[in-house]
Amino acid sequence: MTTFRAGALTDTGRSRAVNQDSLLVVDGRLYAVADGMGGHRGGEVASALALESLAGTLAEPSTRALVASVTTANAAVYTRSAQDPELRGMGTTLIALALIVGDDGQERLAMANVGDSRAYRYRGGALEQITEDHSLVESLVRQGRITAEEAANHPQRNIITRALGVDPQVEVDSWELAAVPGDRFLLCSDGLFNEVEPDVIAAILGRIDDPDAAVAELVRLANEGGGRDNITCVVVDVLDGPGSAEQADARVDVASEPDLGAYGPATQPQPAVSVFDE
Ligand code: MG
Repeated sequence: MTTFRAGALTDTGRSRAVNQDSLLVVDGRLYAVADGMGGHRGGEVASALALESLAGTLAEPSTRALVASVTTANAAVYTRSAQDPELRGMGTTLIALALIVGDDGQERLAMANVGDSRAYRYRGGALEQITEDHSLVESLVRQGRITAEEAANHPQRNIITRALGVDPQVEVDSWELAAVPGDRFLLCSDGLFNEVEPDVIAAILGRIDDPDAAVAELVRLANEGGGRDNITCVVVDVLDGPGSAEQADARVDVASEPDLGAYGPATQPQPAVSVFDE
């Protein structure tokens, strides 16, 4: 049986008036971070509504159900945005980790991602980003037009190419990972990784065992680094589980729509930029 322990913290940061990030912890089952955007109350409403919808609609422990719930969350934000002029154009990122039972009956972790919030896996002293950013700078890096270093300080690094709630349909990245005892996952908004270098994040995750203390230190460092955006961190430790490290390296992509993202050959017209994270 797979068991977890988790720590979670969200913080307004030093320069924003409100916190438009939201987080979700349904202990032992579902963990998520959402980073909302949109004027007035839009960002706050979008991220909170998306996670409320996710928590309320995840019907069964499967990757298919997780993706269906994210799709439902997209519809919830999109519909609300269309109904309320003050919320028009709002959107949110969403990164989620859920415990699921695979087709073979074994417990695994399913992940779903839209936008530029991130998931990292920390194992054996190494930190690995396991999500792909749906951002303009990431697509420029992939096209070889800028370097990863240039992306980190790019003036347009806040522009994302995919978000929940801005279109009736959304493409969701989803995949499964083995539940390996000792693995530590970090879900976070860009307010963390734009302020704190990956090697520092890795050092904190390696040094601070207690997940509540680890997220507190990550948030503190993001504020110390400038705190220019809202900061949200969820650390999930896999205490027990049926997986092995060898297995975890075989990623299984499931339930994903055909990739119409900014990188491959497009099969239909796509907006270059959907949402500005101001
Ligand atoms: Mg942000």
